[in-house]
Amino acid sequence: MPYGFLYDLSAIPRSLFKQVVEIAYEKQLYKLVSKQAKSLVKTFKVDEITGLNFTDAISLVEDLIEVQATNILQKDGFKKAQRKVLLLPHCTRKYMDKNCKAEFNPEIPTYNCQKCSPDCLINKANALGKTKGYDVYVIPGGSCMEKILRKGKYEAAVGVACGMELKLGLQVIKKLGIPGQGLFLTKNGCANTSFNLENLEKILAMQNG
Ligand code: SF4
Repeated sequence: MPYGFLYDLSAIPRSLFKQVVEIAYEKQLYKLVSKQAKSLVKTFKVDEITGLNFTDAISLVEDLIEVQATNILQKDGFKKAQRKVLLLPHCTRKYMDKNCKAEFNPEIPTYNCQKCSPDCLINKANALGKTKGYDVYVIPGGSCMEKILRKGKYEAAVGVACGMELKLGLQVIKKLGIPGQGLFLTKNGCANTSFNLENLEKILAMQNG
């Protein structure tokens, strides 16, 4: 289920994300961080910079904390897993029309990237994931995640999505009893969404030894 609002975090100082991780470490009980989320929104002027109303900005920061806290808690299990999958959002494709040459396979469902644009973020993330030994799917929504995980018998998953979709994904991996790592979209929406490729690379590189 997508958010009812649009956001773009690309202008937010990186120190916000650092503090989110620190709070996640300290608190672990992310459900009790609304006070801290409110404080972070005020300190970093998240509402002013993003144009979100104050309540939506708090929801966004709360979700950032929840996802980061869960990532930390599941890190060890994730590192031990062998068979991993990377789930990418189709809305980050450079083109959302016929200019995207990806072949859609409705059976899975996934878009099979044909590498038509070297500067397409999905193209880059797809190549990165495969280099790191992941099976990669470019999915039209979080609802197909469970089917993919069950069919592929994956032991761990990395998901790139907005906070709402990531939280739904967390419910799925909890149900299946496998660990996961989530990467928050830095910009959400129905098209032209974005994420940080360097941060994805750090997640994909996590393994024991
Ligand atoms: S590089 Fe892949 S995902 Fe990106 S527009 Fe081309 S076919 Fe579509």
